[in-house]
Amino acid sequence: MNNIESPIDVETKINQLKSEAKVCASCGLSLTRKHVIFGNGDPHTKLMVVAEGPSATDENTQSPFTGPAGDLLDDVLAVNGLHREEIWLTNIIKCRAAVWNGRQLKNRPPKASEIKACTKWLSGEIAIIMPHVILCMGSPSAKTIMGKDFRLIEQRGTWFNNTGHASFVSATYNPAFVLRMEKKEFVQGRQILINDIAEAKQKLTENPLASQLTLF
Ligand code: SF4
Repeated sequence: MNNIESPIDVETKINQLKSEAKVCASCGLSLTRKHVIFGNGDPHTKLMVVAEGPSATDENTQSPFTGPAGDLLDDVLAVNGLHREEIWLTNIIKCRAAVWNGRQLKNRPPKASEIKACTKWLSGEIAIIMPHVILCMGSPSAKTIMGKDFRLIEQRGTWFNNTGHASFVSATYNPAFVLRMEKKEFVQGRQILINDIAEAKQKLTENPLASQLTLF
């Protein structure tokens, strides 16, 4: 356990938050979404993984990190002896960001206003779960959690203990980004994911260097 609340309290609170998020209409994405894709996994975990937003596949499965990118995540977790059921997987926005392109919805990056509107749900997840370690996947989630000046290329793999969100916070690539790499780069990108998750796992055993202070 990573906080003083009973497992039942944590589970009740996260389910309550999920119920509230399911009917959220705080930004325009509520008009194009099929479903709100809330975080998933073990709410009693000490490790939270945060990416950008749900994909079209996630909308169909109603779970985050599904489809090819989710398969790659499962793969790099498994190399580290981890399974998605024992960590918490979530996104900075809970509805798919997409625009109509002819007769189809096409993915687009979330707007700053959408990310801002949605941080209440991520903030709630962090406040309830109180993770010891947060691993951001991709630049948008890293900037949301570690500040807009964060630079993924230069600072990937650096651990921060002053974010106020968890004892240890870092960022790695989004598996969806690694999947788009050419063969040789893909092998390197997959290895980077494996290595960064290994570091996150190691951080789970280290003492906190800073307490949680504020949320967003
Ligand atoms: S993206 Fe977030 S803030 Fe916007 S409608 Fe969905 S749940 Fe609400």
